[in-house]
Amino acid sequence: MHVFNWTLAYACATLGTSLDFARIVLANPTPFSFVANLLLVGVAFFAVRGAVLRYAGHSFDRILIPVFLATVVCGIWFVFIDPSIFGRGATSSAGAAAMFLIGAWTIAKAARQDAIDRLLFATFALTAATLIARPIVTYVYEGPLQAEAEVAGSLWVVSFKVFAMLSWFATAILFLLRITTDVMKDLAAQSLTDPLTGILNRRGFFIVAEPVLRDVRPGLPAVLLILDIDQFKRVNDTFGHLTGDNVIQGLANLLRQASKDSGCIIGRLGGEEFVALLPATNLIAGRAFAEGLRAAFAAGSHEGVPFSHTVTVSIGVAESPGGESIDSVIERADGALYRAKREGRNRTHIASDEASPGVVPQGTATGTCRQASMAFRQSMP
Ligand code: GH3
Ligand code: MG
Ligand code: MG
Repeated sequence: MHVFNWTLAYACATLGTSLDFARIVLANPTPFSFVANLLLVGVAFFAVRGAVLRYAGHSFDRILIPVFLATVVCGIWFVFIDPSIFGRGATSSAGAAAMFLIGAWTIAKAARQDAIDRLLFATFALTAATLIARPIVTYVYEGPLQAEAEVAGSLWVVSFKVFAMLSWFATAILFLLRITTDVMKDLAAQSLTDPLTGILNRRGFFIVAEPVLRDVRPGLPAVLLILDIDQFKRVNDTFGHLTGDNVIQGLANLLRQASKDSGCIIGRLGGEEFVALLPATNLIAGRAFAEGLRAAFAAGSHEGVPFSHTVTVSIGVAESPGGESIDSVIERADGALYRAKREGRNRTHIASDEASPGVVPQGTATGTCRQASMAFRQSMP
């Protein structure tokens, strides 16, 4: 939506500037001046409306539209009722300046800013400052212009043309940069996100998890969980593929909630297999966390699955004491998951070369388990 507004700003700028030049050769340029002025105020309106939509995420029409309309009314007044070139120019400059200030303020308040945002803020603020200063400065130098004939070579007009051109070039380039970098960021995020669940895909998880694993030091280990839904093929075959998708989303929602609570990094490795990395966690806490997830998932319900049918998950857990690649930790957690499957599913198994090996019996309730259980129930529809 902001792109559409910025496109309208471009259109107004092109039309406005063309009309402004056309009036030089016209016998009665006043109506043209009025429309040109209106279009140039439209540039400010659409440029700022787009910026507010982009940076605040909503429109600010209850302020912007009255400012725009007030500026138009002043223009009508100084063209048709009490003709004054200075009055028309000064009020449209003031209106446009007010809008650019709103735009600059919105960009300044935006949460995350990069160089493009800071430059756009500076351009908006400078445009507003110049629009305010110009009528005052030109009034001091040449007084109020009385006739259209005086306008063409005046400081009043030359200063505006030079300044408006510079400001608009800067704004247009920054708008284009903002749009292209936004699109590039979107594409990059999409290539790292799983479309069904909205969490990181395998590639995204590796990118985010690798630096976390690199930071692991002795005494501050990390724990990695691999979760695989049990007999999932049977869920698909019995209740349909769509219901299977619901179950996958159910596990993703549970992990998302757990990630919010604990700060773990989660991802979908593929199919019905998920992964979670808990930074600064030891094996005991990691195992309790996994048990919480397992119990919460088994207690949950899924659209399309009758209550009589319990869907469960098996989990493999591995601790990384540091200096180990992510592939190697995943391989060890996968080995533990394989054993959990072999020993009957719906259980948590920890990698056998760890300090306290073995399978965790079903239903071992811990604080983390209860928390995850509660979180899961809240996340269910
Ligand atoms: P196990 O307990 O040993 O893990 O058995 P399983 O049936 O869960 O494992 P298996 O690997 O035999 O089957 C996984 C199934 O998951 C097969 C595949 O059709 C299904 N699947 C993979 N991705 C999706 C998906 O995105 N949606 C749905 N509905 N099914 C999927
Ligand atoms: Mg499975
Ligand atoms: Mg599987």
